[in-house]
Amino acid sequence: MSDPVPDISVVLPAHNEAGNIARMAATLEGVLKPLGRYEIVFVDDGSSDGTLAAIRAAATANPQVRYISFTRNFGHQEALRAGLRHARGRAVIVMDADFEHPPELIPELVAAWRDGTKVVATRREDGEADLPALKSVTSRLYYRLLDSIGDVRIEPGSSDYMLLDRSVVDTVNGFADQDVFLRGAVRWFGFPTTTITFSRGARTYGESKYTLRRMIDLAVTGIAAHSVRPLRLAIWLSLAFAAVGLLLVIYSVVSYFLVRQTVIGWTSIMATIALLGAAQLLVLGIIGEYVGRTLRETRGRPTYIIGETEADQKPDRDVIGFRRPAE
Ligand code: UDP
Ligand code: MG
Repeated sequence: MSDPVPDISVVLPAHNEAGNIARMAATLEGVLKPLGRYEIVFVDDGSSDGTLAAIRAAATANPQVRYISFTRNFGHQEALRAGLRHARGRAVIVMDADFEHPPELIPELVAAWRDGTKVVATRREDGEADLPALKSVTSRLYYRLLDSIGDVRIEPGSSDYMLLDRSVVDTVNGFADQDVFLRGAVRWFGFPTTTITFSRGARTYGESKYTLRRMIDLAVTGIAAHSVRPLRLAIWLSLAFAAVGLLLVIYSVVSYFLVRQTVIGWTSIMATIALLGAAQLLVLGIIGEYVGRTLRETRGRPTYIIGETEADQKPDRDVIGFRRPAE
C-alpha cells in the first residue's frame, strides 16, 4: 500500500444506522483532520436499512473512509473485532456510530495517548443516570459481580468507547478466543490505562439494538470469558444441602424417639426434592453453558464473514471475478 500509515483510525460498528453515517463521517472528518493522518473504518454489521449504501457513499466522498461489510449480522463485539483487524492506525479509537459516544472527546483521548498511555478508556460521568432504571441497576450489579468472580475489574459506566495503542490492537488481534468481550479483554491485558469521563450523547437516529436478550448474551459472555468460578457453584450448593440434610437427619431421629410419628415428613421431603431438583438443573445449565462454549472453541470457526470492503469499490480487477492479490 502506498499511503502512509495513519496516526489515528476510528472504528465504528454500525447495525441499521443509515441516518447516522453521513453526519458521523463529516463530524469525524472535522475532529480528526487537525490531529494528523486519519482513517475512518465503518463496519456494517448486516444492516437492512441502507447503512451499507450510506457507507459506500461516504467512502466515495472521502478516501479516508474505509469499511467492511459483513454478510449478515454477527453482533457488535464481532464488528469491533473485524474493525480492529482492518484498521491500520498507530492508535485506534472504537466508538458507536449513533452519537452516544461524543466525537468531541477524541482530541482528549488522543492527547492522553500522546502522553504515553496505551489504553485510554472512557466512562460515563453521569453513571447510568440517564439510562432506564432497570438497565442502570443491572449494569452496576453486573460489573460488581464480574469484579468479584472474574479476573478483570471494569468500572461501572464503562463502554466500548476507547483508544487503543497499536501494540494493544495487535494483542487483541492475536486473541484466538471465539468469544470476545472487548472491554474485559483490554483490561485483562494490563496495559497502563487512563480513564476519561464523558456525558453520554443522545442517539439521533434509529434505536438501540441491545435488546434484553442481547444484553443477557453479552453479560453471560463477559462472565464466561473471564471466570470459571460459576462452575464451582455445585460445590457450595452441595455443602449447603449437606448441612440442611444433617439437620433433617437429626430431626427425624429425634422425632422417631420422642414423637414416634414418622409420616409427618411429607412436606419436608417435597421441599427437599424441589430444592435439590432446582439446584441440580441450575448447575447443569451452568456446566452446559461452558461445555457449549468449549465446543465452539474447538470448532474454531470464523466468527464473522466479510462480504465486501472498500477495496471492492476500486476498479482494479484484472480478470472479471478475480481480485488482484492483496499487497
Ligand atoms: N451494533 C452492531 N451490531 C449489532 C448491534 C449493534 O454493530 O448487532 C452497533 C450499533 O450500530 C452501535 C453500537 O453497536 O453503533 C452500539 O449499539 P446500540 O447503540 O444499539 O447499543 P446501546 O448504545 O443501546 O448499548
Ligand atoms: Mg447506542
